[in-house]
Formats: sequence, structure tokens, C-alpha cells
Amino acid sequence: MDKINYYLKGEEIINSFKGKASLLMHVCCAPCSCYPLTYLINHFDVTLHFNNSNIYPEKEWKLRKEELIKFVKDFNHDYNSNIKLVIIDYNHKEYMKDLIPFKDEPERGKRCLLCYSKRMKEAYQYAETNNFDYFTTVMSISRQKDSQVLNEIGKNLEKEFTHTKYFYSDFKKNDGIAKGKIIRDKYGLYQQNYCGCEYSIRKDNK
Ligand code: SF4
Repeated sequence: MDKINYYLKGEEIINSFKGKASLLMHVCCAPCSCYPLTYLINHFDVTLHFNNSNIYPEKEWKLRKEELIKFVKDFNHDYNSNIKLVIIDYNHKEYMKDLIPFKDEPERGKRCLLCYSKRMKEAYQYAETNNFDYFTTVMSISRQKDSQVLNEIGKNLEKEFTHTKYFYSDFKKNDGIAKGKIIRDKYGLYQQNYCGCEYSIRKDNK
């Protein structure tokens, strides 16, 4: 089956409204947020939603959270923007209950699909409750994550909500990864070397 160009689908959405719409974006960390923010602030009033109880251990969650808080502050100053940030409390034990049955799955397998869906749904619910025009996730910037899968999840979630629309995106397009790396290096951001949960920690990092 042909792959859908979700960047172009996002552009169609942007061209469908005038001015700036409100957008809630689920974010996993500061480095992944770099390029998407430079693109999105031209079209949206952006709020970031950091809900990542998948991350283990807690000190790693705190490190990624603190890095994001600092980055948003610096970015707002340098880009004259007003990005807001919502932080959801850490509850790893509860979060992992659904994922443990799939602990032996390879990365990008069933455990990860469930993990993407859970975090996106939690964030989407927040967007709906708080009347955001659009919701999206930053995760399509990651080499490890399939944009087709993420946008399919977003499309299905949209059917569950009445107000907030899903904003299709593929932040890997237009050299998003390379552009993001330049920004990440400029701000000297901490770059983790594993996805998040205990099952994704490579043995040589332990
Ligand atoms: S590897 Fe990443 S996406 Fe997959 S279950 Fe673990 S934290 Fe979630």
C-alpha cells in the first residue's frame, strides 16, 4: 500500500484556516521538539503536553522534564514566541500495567503501539477538555517511530472526540531531523540514548 504523505495533509489543514489556531502537541522530550516548534509557531498558538509516565527510572523522567522546561523558556525568548507547557504527574507503576504483558516485544512492536496510543489518547483528552482546535504528537520526528502508524492512531482518536481535530504531521519531512539536530546542538540539549521504558534500555547502557 502506498504511504501517505502526512506532511502534505498537515499543509492542507494549515491552508484551511486563517490566522492562528490553537494546537496541543504531545511531546516526549526537548530534542524532539526543536524542529517541530520552529515549523508550528508560524501557524499555531502552541501548547506542549508532557505526559510520559512510560519513562524509567523517575530521575530520567525528571531530567527530560527539566530539560524541556528550560528549552521552552529559552526558545520563547529567542523566537519571540509564547509556547506554553503542561506537565502531567509521573505514575510509572500504574502506566506500565497495560504494557507489562508485552514486555518481550521488540521495539516498534505491540508494546510500543499501545504506548503511543495511551499517551496520545491522554493528551487528546486534555485537548478536547480544554477546547483546543487541534491535537498532534511530536513523535513522528523520531527515526524509531513510523509516521504512518502514529497518524493512523491520531485519525482513529479524532473519531472519539467532538471538538478537537487531529493535525496530521510528519516532522521527518523537509530534513526535520537534521534541522532539529542543529537547534539541539545550539541549545546544548541533553539527548537520551533510549526511548523511555525499562525494556528499551540497551544492555550496554546499564
Ligand atoms: S520502547 Fe518507547 S514507545 Fe516502546 S513501550 Fe517503551 S517507552 Fe513506550
